[in-house]
Amino acid sequence: MKYYITTYGCQMNVHESEKIAGILASLGYESCNDIADADIAVFNTCCIRENAENHAFGNIGMLKKLKSERKDMIIAVGGCLPQQIGKAEILHKKFPFVDIIFGTHNLGKLKDYILKKQKQKKAVIEIEQSEGEICENGDEPLRTSYPNAWINITYGCNNFCSYCIVPYVRGRERSRSSANIISEAKSLVREGYKELTLLGQNVNSYSNGSTDLTFPRLLAAVAAIDGKFRLRFMTSHPKDFSEELAKAIAENPKICNCVHLPAQSGSNAVLKAMNRKYTVEDYLKKIEILRKYVPNCAVTTDLIVGFPGETEEDFNATLKLVEEADFSSAFTFVYSPREGTVAAKMPNRVPEEVSKERIMRLIEAVNARTREQSQKYVGKTVEILCEDYDPKKQKYLGRDEYGRMAYFSGETDLVGEFVKVNIGSVNGISLYGKIEV
Ligand code: SF4
Repeated sequence: MKYYITTYGCQMNVHESEKIAGILASLGYESCNDIADADIAVFNTCCIRENAENHAFGNIGMLKKLKSERKDMIIAVGGCLPQQIGKAEILHKKFPFVDIIFGTHNLGKLKDYILKKQKQKKAVIEIEQSEGEICENGDEPLRTSYPNAWINITYGCNNFCSYCIVPYVRGRERSRSSANIISEAKSLVREGYKELTLLGQNVNSYSNGSTDLTFPRLLAAVAAIDGKFRLRFMTSHPKDFSEELAKAIAENPKICNCVHLPAQSGSNAVLKAMNRKYTVEDYLKKIEILRKYVPNCAVTTDLIVGFPGETEEDFNATLKLVEEADFSSAFTFVYSPREGTVAAKMPNRVPEEVSKERIMRLIEAVNARTREQSQKYVGKTVEILCEDYDPKKQKYLGRDEYGRMAYFSGETDLVGEFVKVNIGSVNGISLYGKIEV
């Protein structure tokens, strides 16, 4: 029996698909590369932006023909999309051939739903509204991203940024116990994983008094595990980014000197409307503190353009922030209204053509900095963790601790190895070099 999982959205979802794969493997399913061969197809969906949602709807719809030819195939849809109020019913109405619909809070029960569906004709639709306890003894995730491994440390979010659907579909913030996190990290290092990433919507508020360690202490405890590996974390909310965390990065060489700190906007008026709870001055101060302790720290960010009410002046403030913060890269987005959020009801929507023009300018500003920073690599030797082989380019690829992707040739299988690469040329954000022997 074969399974095929389609994943949309963030790293959290990528890791949850590894958990889904673990559940399917425990039922005897094996992965396959073509959805047409699958006995069970799972869509792990995202609703953070409208296009992610439309994309999922489109791909689920395309399975109608396959399902009519292969009636015994099971189609399951889970994740953030069905967790939104009323969306499971819409999904069921639009795609009556979908067999299982489940939400973010009951992923751990997928095995029961599959067994139930195998015995009944009727679709299994189960959405839990309450987040419940964190489940620690489910099936082991089937990890697919060696040499990288993801470890959830928190689930949910309490921040209610006005544009964001996450608190509505992932529930309130809950932290895993530090003992369980450290034990998972130790096992992964023992199994040979070379890069661990601690995951949460806002890792800085890990614990919130509910566990024995604060986030910087948890990081230090994971970094103290024996063995050569890198440690990363995401995502950080600027309001909770502390001096203690900057010190922890400086004091523990295994923690990468690379922090993803979403700014979202450079305008205080927009930040206020976004309910981000910091000003641009606060944000720059956090970066100053970080770089005081970790002078070379790369800072990456997320930026939104076209938030309701964003003026040309507000947008120019975002462009100014790109210069001042010296981001090494940025994920840039056009604001996407999400039903049920505060911002979706805000007046003064920015016209689409204005948002499009702004995002192009923003991308160019970000790329110009990235290119400038890439040039500084030429002639230098950097340590790269080899992550994969690109058959098209016929080169291995991997990242340095600052998150920069490098391509290089190699005679033997290098995936999972740390290699020294001398950078000879750059192309935008990518570096090209030769292994030093
Ligand atoms: S911090 Fe804000 S943007 Fe991030 S998940 Fe929470 S509500 Fe969403």
